[in-house]
Formats: sequence, structure tokens, C-alpha cells
Amino acid sequence: MSSTGKATLNDKTGMLSHSNQKIPTTHAYEFGGPFGTLLTTLALPVLVLVLAHWAKKGYLDLSFFSDEDSRTIFCPSCDNLPLLLKCAAGLCAWFLALVILWALLPGLWVEGAPVHGNPNHRLPYKLNGHLTFWVVIGSVVLFRLPLNEYLYRYYENLAFTDISLCFLLAGYLYISSFAKDQHGKPKVLSIMGNSGNAAYDFFMGRELNPRIGRFDWKQFCELRPGLILWVLLNYACAQEQYKVYGKVSGSMVLLNVFHAFYVWDSLHMERAILTTMDITTDGFGFMLVFGDLAWVPFTYNHPAKYLVHHDPNLSAPVLAAIFGLYVLGFYIFRAANSQKDMFRSNPNDPRVAHLTYMPTKRGTRLLTSGWWGMARKINYTGDYLMGLTYSLLCGFDSIVPYYYAVYFCILLVHRSIRDDVLCQDKYGKDWDEYKRQVPYRFIPGIV
Ligand code: NDP
Repeated sequence: MSSTGKATLNDKTGMLSHSNQKIPTTHAYEFGGPFGTLLTTLALPVLVLVLAHWAKKGYLDLSFFSDEDSRTIFCPSCDNLPLLLKCAAGLCAWFLALVILWALLPGLWVEGAPVHGNPNHRLPYKLNGHLTFWVVIGSVVLFRLPLNEYLYRYYENLAFTDISLCFLLAGYLYISSFAKDQHGKPKVLSIMGNSGNAAYDFFMGRELNPRIGRFDWKQFCELRPGLILWVLLNYACAQEQYKVYGKVSGSMVLLNVFHAFYVWDSLHMERAILTTMDITTDGFGFMLVFGDLAWVPFTYNHPAKYLVHHDPNLSAPVLAAIFGLYVLGFYIFRAANSQKDMFRSNPNDPRVAHLTYMPTKRGTRLLTSGWWGMARKINYTGDYLMGLTYSLLCGFDSIVPYYYAVYFCILLVHRSIRDDVLCQDKYGKDWDEYKRQVPYRFIPGIV
């Protein structure tokens, strides 16, 4: 499962030249194959719009089966083309503004992980997401932007337009993956998204690292337009709650802080994204385009949208307990991820030098003590605890905000299975031995 092509960093633009680049072909399907991915491509956008509707109503409203409601839910701007165009212009302007910040703000250029495991083939990435975050948040605060007048008021229209733009971008990326690179060579493809089946490859993403010059679509979209928009949508919800009720509730404040902190942390640790599965393994297709740009902002914001009109007025001790759970989750999440990053970057670092590890035939070392000796995916457990607090902040009056707790559980379990299969493939018998030494997946001694 690896490319045999040799590539070298060869010029000042950081672009790569390849010799004998062999494009690997997908033989094993994921996500239910072509049928499953087609269904997911069609169903998830619908789910985003339904969730937005439920968050507003505060209960599982099924009236969208009636003709009148279905039009406003599933096609919220269809009878208002000028509004649809304004939303599209607004979203494109947002994306473009962030691209300009990416280009203009200073940032460290670093090399990514070896492409398809080839140590001579690494791509350069500019890291200035953290600065971008502060420029955007600073501007919103400084200019006291009434975000609710745009982001909350036209929420559904924006979600619909955003989804439509995701289809366009994923279509462009799919088509452009067949073109040659600037050296007249075939593009480097993802092993997962090169099956030959159009629906499947459109979803999984054919090209591994689509770029325009030094601008990397995937790295940029992973952490910026969707994640920062998520924070702004939350803020818009808080502003709306204040406008309607004259105060911002404890749950709304905590939710805004939790989410903003999570996003800030991701951007602060931007470099860590370069070694994740999304960057190293998955192609940039509809799955990631839609996930990064539409699903994350419009569904992760779901609890805040729910809170605007359905706040449970939780007491201070309950809020404090939820806060404690969040801190615990964050501690596990950050400590585990940092320990692995630290160990992989410099195993002699005194903070990790004492840890035991397993050498592997692949050349990399697998930690067998510390966080990674407790459970193989303990970082996901920490992440999940944080995710759970978002739903808990909404109280227990409705099942609607628990969508996030259920969804996040499914996402992390599924992702852990995917990573397990990939590691089995990468490490073979060494992975069996690692699993024997670290038998638990999420919670030591239990799961
Ligand atoms: P991980 O950070 O868990 O990395 C998995 C990789 O780490 C493996 O493929 C393997 O790669 C390496 N590895 C596994 N075990 C060990 C070990 N014992 N010692 C050293 N290296 C090991 O995976 P993800 O990229 O999936 O997740 C990154 C973070 O992002 C997680 O904390 C996750 O919770 C979060 N996340 C959040 C999402 C959200 O929507 N909020 C969605 C997805 C992820 P190799 O050996 O090849 O380096």
C-alpha cells in the first residue's frame, strides 16, 4: 500500500518533482463502498439542514414531511435568488479574506510528513492559523460586529449555500485531480480515493494534497474557514440570546468559551495537523471538504443554536461540574497528543525520554507506557469528554442537543477502527504485538 515513486524537493517554490510516480489503486472500499458514499454524500447535507431546524424548534419536529415546511427547511433560499447570491458572495468573501490573511500574515514554513511514506517527498506548509484566529476575533471585538444580524438571521440560508459551494469545490478538486502537475506528471493521489468509481472517489478525494502554488487546499480548509466560522456562529447565538432575553446564560457563556478554546487550541497547535490521518492519508474530496467547511461550523454550533431559545438555566454547581469534566477531558486530550508529538519529534526530550517503546520493522517507535500505554486511543477519550459537555450544557429537557454526543461517539469509534486497520497495514505483526501489550482502546481496564 505505498507509492513506489521517488520525489524530491527541487525548487524554491517547494513543489516536488517525481520520477516513476506510480499511482496506487484502491482495492478495499470504506464507508460502504460506492453506494454507501453516494448515500452519505446525499444524506449528510440534508441532515445539516434538519439539525438546524431542530435546534431552532428545540424538539424533534418531523413536520418537514409536509410540503410547506420542507421547502423552507431543505431549500431555504430557493424562492429568493438575490439572498442566495448574497449568502454565496458572503461565504466566498470570508474564504478569500482568510486566504489573503494566510498569504500576508507572517508564518513559519515547515515540512510535512513523508508523502506516502517516502522520506524524500515532503511538502512545505505555512503555519499562521493561530495569528489568523486572533486577527479575526480581534476584528470582531474591536469593531463590535453584530454577527447575529447576519450569521444568526440568515443561518439556514448560509448553511444551504455553504453546502452548495462544497459540492462545487469537491467537483473542481475531483476534476482537477486528473490534470497533470506543473512538471507534466500525474498528480499524487490518495490511496483511498483512487478506485476508479466516480461516486466513491468524489467522496474520498482522489488527490492527496491538491495545491495552487504553495497554497494547500486541505491544510487550509482543515483548520480555518470552518473552525473559525464555528466560533463566530456561537458568538452570533450569544448576541441573539442577549438581544431577545437581555442576558447571556451561564450555559451559553461556557459553550462559547469551550468551543473557542478548542478552536484556539487546534490553531495554536496547528503543526500537529500535519501528521494526522486527514493530511497524510485521506484525499481531499467531498468527505473532508464538506466536513471541514459545512458540517463542522453548522452542526458543531448546534448546541449554541439550541440554547438561544431553549436555555435550561442550569445552576452554578451544575455548571461548575460540567466545567470540571471539560477540564479533565482537555487535560487527557492535550497531554496524550503532546506526548506522542514530543516523542516522535525528539525521543530524547527529558519529558518523554523515560517512556518505554516498541521498535518496529517500519522504523518508527510505538509508545507502550505513559498515555499511550494506558489505552491505544486515550486521546479520543479526552476529546469525547469535552464533546459530551457541549450537550450537557443544554440540560435534559430535549434529546435534540444530544445529537452531538451521539454523533461524536460514532465518529471517534469509527475513526479508531479506520486507524486500527491502517496501522495493521503499516505495522503488520508489530501492530499485533502492540495491541497485545496495550489491550485497551479507550478506557484502561474497561474498553
Ligand atoms: P492520532 O493522533 O490518534 O494518531 C494515530 C497515529 O499515531 C497512528 O496512525 C500511528 O501513526 C501513531 N500511533 C499510534 N499509536 C502510537 C503509539 N503508541 N506511539 C506512537 N505513535 C502511535 O489520530 P488522529 O489523527 O485520528 O487524531 C488526532 C486528534 O484529533 C485526536 O486527539 C482526535 O481526538 C482529534 N480529532 C478530532 C475530531 C473532531 O471532529 N473534533 C475528528 C478527528 C480527530 P504512525 O505510527 O504512522 O505515526
